[in-house]
Amino acid sequence: MKLSLVVPCYNEEKNVSLFYEAVKNDFSGVDFDYELVFVNDGSKDGTFKELQKLCEGDLPVKIVNFSRNFGKESAMYAGLRESEGDYVTIIDADLQQRPSIALDMVRMLDGEPDYDCVAAYQESRRESKLLVFFKNSFYKLINKFSDTEFVQGASDFRTFRRPMVEAILAMDEYFRFSKGLFSWVGFNTKFIPYKVEERATGNSKWSFKKLFKYALDGIFAFTTAPLRFATIIGLLTSFLSIIYLIVVVIQKLAFGIPVAGYATIVVLILLLGGIQLCCIGIIGEYIARTYIQTKGRPIYIAKQVIKNHKYER
Ligand code: UDP
Ligand code: MG
Repeated sequence: MKLSLVVPCYNEEKNVSLFYEAVKNDFSGVDFDYELVFVNDGSKDGTFKELQKLCEGDLPVKIVNFSRNFGKESAMYAGLRESEGDYVTIIDADLQQRPSIALDMVRMLDGEPDYDCVAAYQESRRESKLLVFFKNSFYKLINKFSDTEFVQGASDFRTFRRPMVEAILAMDEYFRFSKGLFSWVGFNTKFIPYKVEERATGNSKWSFKKLFKYALDGIFAFTTAPLRFATIIGLLTSFLSIIYLIVVVIQKLAFGIPVAGYATIVVLILLLGGIQLCCIGIIGEYIARTYIQTKGRPIYIAKQVIKNHKYER
C-alpha cells in the first residue's frame, strides 16, 4: 500500500460521501494503491452509517469506530495506528483541505527524497482580528519559551513517510498537541502554502473556548516556563518586600513618620494572595497532567475496526 488517507470525522454525515467522491475524482488515474482510514470520533449523527455505506464502494476503506468522542488529536493517533501505507496523509473530512493537494504532497515526497514530511500551512484565513491577535500571541509566546518550533498557521494537513509516522506513534502521551509532536520528532518537513476552502456542510467544531483550552494544553505540554515564571514572581515579591521593610524602618526611626496602616495591609494581602493562588494553579496544571498520565489510560477506545472487502482476510 503506497498511501493512507487518515480522516478524522466528528458529526460529518453529509460530508463523508462528498469527501469519498472528491478523493475518487482527484485520484482517478493514479498509478499507485491507496486506502481511506476513517476515524468516527463518537459522532452523534449518522456519520457511522454513512461510512458503512462507503465500505460497499471499490476503494479500500477502514473505519475505526470510537466508543465516544475523544477529540481530533486522539482520532489522528488512531488513524495513524491503523494506517498501512508507506505514506500517510492526515486530512479533514469537511473538504476544507482539497484531496488534490494530498496528491501534490505525494508527488513532492516522491521527487524529493530528502524530505520526510510535507505540511500545508494556511496562506490566509478569514478570521476576526481578535482571534488573529490571540493566535499570533500564542505562537510568539510558545516559540519564545519552548525548544520545539511551532510554525504559525501550520495545519494537521500533512503527508508523512512511514518512519516519521512510527516516531509519532512511539510518543503515546495522553495530552497530545500534534503540532508540537510533529515538530518534536524532528525529520525534514517541507511547508507548502494552501488555501482553506469553505466547509462543504456543517459547522466548525472549534469554539473560542475550545481553542483557548487547546492553546493552554500546548503550553503545558511543551514548556515548563510557567513554573519558572512562578519562581521569578516569588523572588521578585520577596525582594520588593525587603526593600519596603527597610524603607518603613528608616522612615519610622529617622523621620518619625508613622507606618501606613489598614489600606496598605489589605492591598498587600490581596495582592500576595492572588499571586500565590496563581502560582499554585500553575503547579496544579502540571500535577494534574502528571496524575492523569500516570493512570496510563488509553488515548482512545475503539468499539470496532472495520475493513471492507478490498482487504485480503
Ligand atoms: N474532528 C474530530 N473530532 C472532534 C472535532 C473535530 O474528529 O472532536 C474532525 C472533524 O470532523 C474534521 C476535522 O476534525 O474532519 C477538523 O474539524 P473542524 O472542521 O471542526 O475544524 P476547523 O477546520 O474549523 O479547524
Ligand atoms: Mg474544518
